[in-house]
Amino acid sequence: MNLYNIKHPEEQVNFAQAVRQGLGKDQGLFFPEIIPHLDNIDALLELPLVERSEKILGALIGDEIPADKLAQLVKNAFTFPAPVEKVADHIYALELFHGPTLAFKDFGGRFMAQALAAVRGDGKITILTATSGDTGAAVAHAFYGLENIDVVILYPKGKISPLQEKLFCTLGGNIRTVAINGDFDDCQALVKQAFDDAELRQAIGLNSANSINISRLLAQVCYYFEAVAQLPKAERENIVVSVPSGNFGNLTAGLIAKTMGLPIKRFIAATNANDTVPRYLSTGEWAPNDTVATLSNAMDVSRPNNWPRVEELFKRNGWALSELHSAAMNDEQTEQTLRAMNEQGYLCEPHGAIAYGVLKADLQPGETGLFLCTAHPAKFKESVERILSTELPLPEALDKHNKLPLLSDEMDNDFATLKAYLLK
Ligand SMILES: *Cc1c(COP(=O)(O)O)cnc(C)c1O
Repeated sequence: MNLYNIKHPEEQVNFAQAVRQGLGKDQGLFFPEIIPHLDNIDALLELPLVERSEKILGALIGDEIPADKLAQLVKNAFTFPAPVEKVADHIYALELFHGPTLAFKDFGGRFMAQALAAVRGDGKITILTATSGDTGAAVAHAFYGLENIDVVILYPKGKISPLQEKLFCTLGGNIRTVAINGDFDDCQALVKQAFDDAELRQAIGLNSANSINISRLLAQVCYYFEAVAQLPKAERENIVVSVPSGNFGNLTAGLIAKTMGLPIKRFIAATNANDTVPRYLSTGEWAPNDTVATLSNAMDVSRPNNWPRVEELFKRNGWALSELHSAAMNDEQTEQTLRAMNEQGYLCEPHGAIAYGVLKADLQPGETGLFLCTAHPAKFKESVERILSTELPLPEALDKHNKLPLLSDEMDNDFATLKAYLLK
């Protein structure tokens, strides 16, 4: 697989380098030079998720990873299903929250961990990351138990929810979690200092495993195929997919699936009040506002870092950006939608509700709508319980960790202390 840096196309890397490096020169994003068109889609759709995903990823990555090895990586990463549920006439939900941390980021995160372990080369690797909650959990679970990869996660002591803390600070093994006496910005500053320290970086093989990594996007392509495979055959003609978007990685993956030949008529990008993209698509002007806090906080992004990949795909495929519909919903509309969905018998959470609301307003007669549910309702327990005036039981995955003892170390906000800890 050959990839180029969108900002500096002369910088070219293979899959292994792109996975290890994350970003190119000038923070440029890597993008595949060739996206293969598959001509056996109907046969592919007949296969089970893991087998089909091996073939999709094999076609994208090529012979850089032998087929039997890739099969093992996919099997290790995709250990949970992505069911499709009917929500209304001609409208279906793709539930991406049945993984260990109850959010769709488990798909990309787990495959990235497997891919990094496969292409790492010699030497030690230490994943160092700061979290305000969710990313840390996904990273910890994705890398848990992988040989010769240490993970250190910093988080602000007392500033994440007790349940979130339990989800990733109870694993042990190769996962070390550190409660910093400070806030999230302090944690991020410590991580940045560590990456700026050449001696430390070299000594422990620091790697950020960040969200821009191409391996995540490739993994996410697979569940769009899974969604179409589960739709009734009579409703696979005019599929419209609505994606709740923050950094627009999820939408990029869907567009790659369409480029590969998956029969999706069009996409809708749904956002919360952080609406840089819907405004850009209607006015042609890229004018990010300050980021505002919303109910769908995983989408509180006003400068989406995957947007250049979206534009690159439209340009390369000769698609007009006007074919991409996009709209925003504020918190009040989100709450109304969540309640309406609940009355129809579907329990959702704010991110999925935005995708549904925008889809419902945009869907035309003769089209089949599919919206992505990116998180389990229990992940946003407090908001969902308040909005729906109900109580949610704790899902088994959370309950299990909730009963385990915390294993975190505690540390002052001091780089010298952190450095000694990492070198120990
Ligand atoms: C990360 C996230 C999103 C946004 O996905 P992008 O790929 O960044 O657009 C939406 N919903 C949830 C629950 C998320 O965690």
